[in-house]
Amino acid sequence: MSALLNPKHTVAELKELRALTGDENGAQRVAFTPMWVKTREWLRKKLEALPVEMHTDAAGNLWATLRGESKKELLIGGHMDSVPNGGWLDGCLNVMAGVEILRRVHAQYNGRPPVTVRLVDWADEEGARFGKSLFGSSACSGNLDMTEARGLVDKQGIKLPDALRDVGIDFERVKESGKELANAAAYLELHIEQGPVLLDLDLPLGAVLGTFGVERHAITFHGQAAHSGSTPMNRRKDAFLAAAQMSPEIYRIAERSGAGVCTIGSCTTKPGIVTSVVEECRITLDQRHLDGPRLARMLQEARNASERFAKEGNVKVSWERLWQIAPRPFNEELIALCDESIRETCGKSHRLPSGPLHDAAEIAAAGVPTVMMFVQSLHGISHNKIEDTKEEHLELCVTAFDKLAEKAIKWVLSNRQPSC
Ligand SMILES: [Zn+2]
Repeated sequence: MSALLNPKHTVAELKELRALTGDENGAQRVAFTPMWVKTREWLRKKLEALPVEMHTDAAGNLWATLRGESKKELLIGGHMDSVPNGGWLDGCLNVMAGVEILRRVHAQYNGRPPVTVRLVDWADEEGARFGKSLFGSSACSGNLDMTEARGLVDKQGIKLPDALRDVGIDFERVKESGKELANAAAYLELHIEQGPVLLDLDLPLGAVLGTFGVERHAITFHGQAAHSGSTPMNRRKDAFLAAAQMSPEIYRIAERSGAGVCTIGSCTTKPGIVTSVVEECRITLDQRHLDGPRLARMLQEARNASERFAKEGNVKVSWERLWQIAPRPFNEELIALCDESIRETCGKSHRLPSGPLHDAAEIAAAGVPTVMMFVQSLHGISHNKIEDTKEEHLELCVTAFDKLAEKAIKWVLSNRQPSC
């Protein structure tokens, strides 16, 4: 560990933030609310102690820039916003580790590192209020769907453009944020895992391979309603029977796929009464994989299975796509540097995909070489006040992430043409 880095400082600052912005139910830093504004003020004060340039971009993302010898930029990102009753580490761990790294880089290079180093606090990663996550980073990457975002409304009936105006953001100009990436040569993000993989392996840290692609569909089986007493079992067109067979099938599909996951998250039946055979059964299917062709195969296998079960049960089936996103693999060289930093810090590393999307997925999609580092989550849980990580692991992740930042500075410097 660099003598100039103090990971305990990060843990202390995270506790300070928890006391300032949390209550007995957890973190309350929902984006674009007064508490979020207060959080930003607190963060600005921390950064003001360094000679960094600070500004908020067109999408409300806060940037702190430490100018270097080269214009090429190493970006470190995170998000200070939380879900309501959120955990104390989700998003802000990344930012506060970044603040400590800026301090270390500043001290080591007497205020002038070889490349420009920038910290970004993305606006509204969680999408807790308007139901649309990755707002600031997708505006920056250019992927934000303006038509959809313009119509988003919160529970109080307030439109997203109006909520943004209240915090000084002009909705129609948010994509101007994209110019912030003009000199970006690498993007790093630290995050709590939010799942149980590292916990089950008893490892503190992991290198993230990318974020899963997602296929989300509604599958409806159409049978025939019939009296539950008078209809013999062999005369039924039972939509539920066909749908129910999908449940064990998706476990087999996921297993065959290697590292994919499949979920049937909802099931509704019509007429939905105790005395009738099910006429119509609608289930939702969510499939995720890091590998595009394997994801496509999982989807095809589910389609084939649904048609087979429909035929066997003498019912019909129809599909409707709800949402889809391609896998976002991270940069292989940066993944290798991340792995190396983890091994140097705690002996053993593990490579894993990310189930949840993160701001890093947007920045990778914008063509900036990207990698993430995960630190173990206790209970494998987040978006909940019980979200936690051992303090020793928090310290380890700041150390390892700082090593990665230093390796990335050298990597950026040696890359004449940053590859995507
Ligand atoms: Zn997060």
